[in-house]
Amino acid sequence: MNISINAERLLAELYTLSRMTDCPATEDTSLPEPTQAVTRIVFTSRDMEARAWLKKLATKAGFQVREDAVGNTFLRWEGSDPSLGAVGTGSHTDAIPHAGMYDGTVGVLGGLEAMRSLKEAGFQPKRAIETLMFTSEEPTRFGIGCLGSRLLGGVLDAATADALRDRLAETEPGAPEGLTLAQVRQQAGFEGSLSTVKLPQQYYDAWVELHIEQGPLLEREGIELGIVTNIAAPASYRYTLEGFGGHAGALLMPDRRDALCAAAELILAVERFALEANALAKAQGHSGVDTVATVGTVAVHPGAVNSVPSHVQIMLDIRDTDVARRNNVMEKLHAEIAAIESRRAVTITEETINADQPSHSDPRILAALEEACRAEAASYRTMVSRAYHDSNFMACVAPIAMLFIPCRNGVSHRPDEYSTPEQIVLGTRVLARTLATLAG
Ligand SMILES: [Zn+2]
Repeated sequence: MNISINAERLLAELYTLSRMTDCPATEDTSLPEPTQAVTRIVFTSRDMEARAWLKKLATKAGFQVREDAVGNTFLRWEGSDPSLGAVGTGSHTDAIPHAGMYDGTVGVLGGLEAMRSLKEAGFQPKRAIETLMFTSEEPTRFGIGCLGSRLLGGVLDAATADALRDRLAETEPGAPEGLTLAQVRQQAGFEGSLSTVKLPQQYYDAWVELHIEQGPLLEREGIELGIVTNIAAPASYRYTLEGFGGHAGALLMPDRRDALCAAAELILAVERFALEANALAKAQGHSGVDTVATVGTVAVHPGAVNSVPSHVQIMLDIRDTDVARRNNVMEKLHAEIAAIESRRAVTITEETINADQPSHSDPRILAALEEACRAEAASYRTMVSRAYHDSNFMACVAPIAMLFIPCRNGVSHRPDEYSTPEQIVLGTRVLARTLATLAG
């Protein structure tokens, strides 16, 4: 089968979507063309605009549109045998503040383009093919990543999800709590119980997500495509440190219980333990780079230059391909937290946001991807996904795999994130061929 992707249409749609941004237009001429700084947070008017636009594209192409109670959006091309499980693809269109225009969007618009191209080529699938746009892959608004796919995969229960707080308004600890997800989704027009969102096991016979690599390996090695064999297990935690505040001049050093100094020790301990875990893994003959740990947010109360910090919140993101190794780092951290508490007379509480399992790709889908790469004469390698994706949670209800295209300098979650039109089109063509194989 000769699959021709409409590159012009796909690229035009990517640019159109990138202009639905809440990021103020940048005059930064150092940004390489054509790049748009994108901020598109779930259930904001920008997100709603993007959703409406996407649904219109799908309807125009003759696909059915369905939305679930959390706003996951299914674009469906019915197969000749509707009793069979569908073949799914897709990704997300939400973007963290000041991000790029390719993360997630390539998988959604690429999925739609793959379906349209197959349809235009006269292909008739036996199984339905769906492109799915997940709600809130990014944790910006509700503090938890992959909200929509966690619910689809049944790893987040409905009541817990509905009680999640909107964190957009929260600027510092102690600020009034935001609305709940239940309230925010209702305002956005998504009603009904979240318990209806979980997919039955047979809903998808196969699932494959197209995504930019968000790392440097493909570009560095000059390889066109990456076939993902497993996704590293992410975990994130919130730490609240309570010390004692006061006047920066009057509160003398021997009496200090500075919450920010305690947080600084905790942050450096995180880095130290991750480095130690990698060194140990390397000594045991592993790659020695699989443990990564990051403290990416610090909220200081009261946050004044002449006031001793009394209350600090930080968030830790830790990932590993090996859950036991990740747990080991956390154990060392817990011991260190106890030591910091007694040394500095502060209290540190830990709240688990998520602690997820790694996922492994399905051999049948990996084989279909490899076959499609060979048919397109595209170079490829297998690889680990170190960023997590919605596919990690789809793995709970479906056999999955992922397909990566290179991105310049491995940069992502930044406005200068970039993949070439050729890379995007090739990824989409291989995706289309894979979907055709899997849908029969
Ligand atoms: Zn993404």
